Amino acid sequence: MSKKEFKTESKKLLDMMVHSIYTHKEIFIRELISNASDAIDKLYFRSLTDDSVTLKHDDYEIRITPDKEARTLTISDNGCGMTEEELENNLGTIAKSGSLEFKNTQESKENEEIDIIGQFGVGFYSAFMVADKITVKSKAFGEEKAFQWESTGADGYTIEPCEKDEAGTQITLHIKEDTEDEKYSDYLEQYTLQELIKKYSDYIRYPIRMIVERQQPKEGTEGEFETVQEDETLNSMVPIWKRSTSDVTEEEYAKFYQDKYFDFEAPLKVIRQNAEGTSEYVALLFIPARAPFDYYSKDFEKGLSLYSSGVMIMDRCKDLLPDHFSFVKGLVDSSDLSLNISREMLQHDRQLKIIAKALEKKIATELSKMQDEDREKYEKFFENFGTQLKWGIYSEYGSHKDLLQDLIMFKSSYKEEDNVNVENADGSEEKTFTKKYTSLKEYVSRMKEGQDKIYYASGASEDKIKLLPQVESVLAKGYEVLFFTEDIDEFAIQMLRNYDEKEFLNVCKDSLDLSSEEDKAKLKEDNEKSADLFKFMKESIGDKVAKVQFTNSLTNHAVCLSSEGDISVGMENILNKVPDAQGMPVKAETVLEINKDHPVAATLTQLFESDKDKLAQYSRILFAQACLINGMPLDNPSEVAEMVCDLMV
Ligand code: ADP
Repeated sequence: MSKKEFKTESKKLLDMMVHSIYTHKEIFIRELISNASDAIDKLYFRSLTDDSVTLKHDDYEIRITPDKEARTLTISDNGCGMTEEELENNLGTIAKSGSLEFKNTQESKENEEIDIIGQFGVGFYSAFMVADKITVKSKAFGEEKAFQWESTGADGYTIEPCEKDEAGTQITLHIKEDTEDEKYSDYLEQYTLQELIKKYSDYIRYPIRMIVERQQPKEGTEGEFETVQEDETLNSMVPIWKRSTSDVTEEEYAKFYQDKYFDFEAPLKVIRQNAEGTSEYVALLFIPARAPFDYYSKDFEKGLSLYSSGVMIMDRCKDLLPDHFSFVKGLVDSSDLSLNISREMLQHDRQLKIIAKALEKKIATELSKMQDEDREKYEKFFENFGTQLKWGIYSEYGSHKDLLQDLIMFKSSYKEEDNVNVENADGSEEKTFTKKYTSLKEYVSRMKEGQDKIYYASGASEDKIKLLPQVESVLAKGYEVLFFTEDIDEFAIQMLRNYDEKEFLNVCKDSLDLSSEEDKAKLKEDNEKSADLFKFMKESIGDKVAKVQFTNSLTNHAVCLSSEGDISVGMENILNKVPDAQGMPVKAETVLEINKDHPVAATLTQLFESDKDKLAQYSRILFAQACLINGMPLDNPSEVAEMVCDLMV
């Protein structure tokens, strides 16, 4: 029997498979099973109109038979089969549209492309990643004769008549010898096969069966076990997302989620979308109850699984999820996507972009609904993933702010009780829940008459912020203040700039115009009068302050810190936790503000005339005090301690 040559391009692709260094060689099984399923589809559709096909839907199967001794793995189906000519044409040539393009780029970018094999496969030839010889026996439906195709790789193939009773195809892989790097014999293990089929082909519509060995207690004995063999169906066939929504219980969704994403907790929310029209797809999405431990780290990878008519084509497709919703888990199944689409093509796929946009909108809508209808749940969600939403506002120059601004929330000086109805076994009972957060919309709805800005202050905790001198006085006047306790808060707000046409105002930074015109004019005058005093004080303190001035926004405290310019004191602290590329610390323009009506103000004015040394010392002590109140570390604590002691002796 003389060997036939593969067509040139097939030969190249095949050669690549044989020498593949790709680590996910396991995908060959998905490719072969999907071919088998297609072949059954063809015969099944024919049966609908052709009476000569007597097989019923339940008669179809795909069978997996590992043989450790012979070192073979056989995958067989009772689908349409192939004639001699079809064997020649189908297995001797690459017919796929993307393959040529794929092969060309392969020559230039070896490693990158290897990845594509893993992600999308290249059909039948992928079996050469694990087998050094492949034997295909096939009998086309309605034909008398069966044929065998055999190949050991790129050097060619043979076709000859063979014996086969039933119509269909039987593919036998002669598994490669194990090497140091690769344990090919794994593909002969029952457990590995069970796992791989669950992973890649769980939703193939026909049963994938295998004789499975199992240990079970031997009847009539104590503690003795026997090995039994059972013919087991390895796939679940109907995907949960293809079942009608009313058929699937909460528990089933939860179990599916927990099994698939290894979460010990049920999801906080299940989102299902059946889209029809321009793009047809089913999406099954989950919001986890808790952020994964690596969620806010570099290691976390977002993405949804992508299926094409029940066959997984990509484990984690990043392009389907925007970063601000990266916490969402789940999958998309679309019949519009081809199984063999390459990753590069996928990235530019219009269909995929449309789906991603629609999912983003759907997730936002569902979150907003949860915020309105189940505040307690939303706050739980927000505690886990709220930071991510705020990052979403800050990132990409604020281009997502319209989508996200109503979903973010902050701690606030206002406390509101929310009545929530909880269903108990004995009926409905009312329970109160105190909101921990407020949305911007809620803040604005409570703004006092004449208040045109949204007030906020930042600090390490709610309690610490409340004690800030400026905050104390704003609260005393009856205004609501948002407490920014997270690093990202102030950055997100700067990106938002305003909400509902109301600007944001940092009560510790920008001067609060709560005083009358008259008072303001008086303050300005006093500041001008004391310009020399302040200049002296600033010089005594050094570079750490940009300016010293009077304020009338304090009630009890003598001093406080504020800042000028874009960067607040809080932002300075955050930015300096991570030095920038040049290692230059970021500086806020810190202002030391002195309560004009506090007795200390008079003391300072006096000292400026009588004792400059003492004034210099007092200036430094007051600055240290202001730092402490603001929760900032002192540059030289023992110097400050000594200065305070000096005052006592
Ligand atoms: P693709 O499936 O993307 O077309 P493959 O290289 O996997 O590419 O397969 C090439 C062709 O071989 C298929 O299109 C199909 O016509 C035929 N084929 C492969 N496996 C089988 C099978 N189990 N039964 C019948 N035909 C098959």
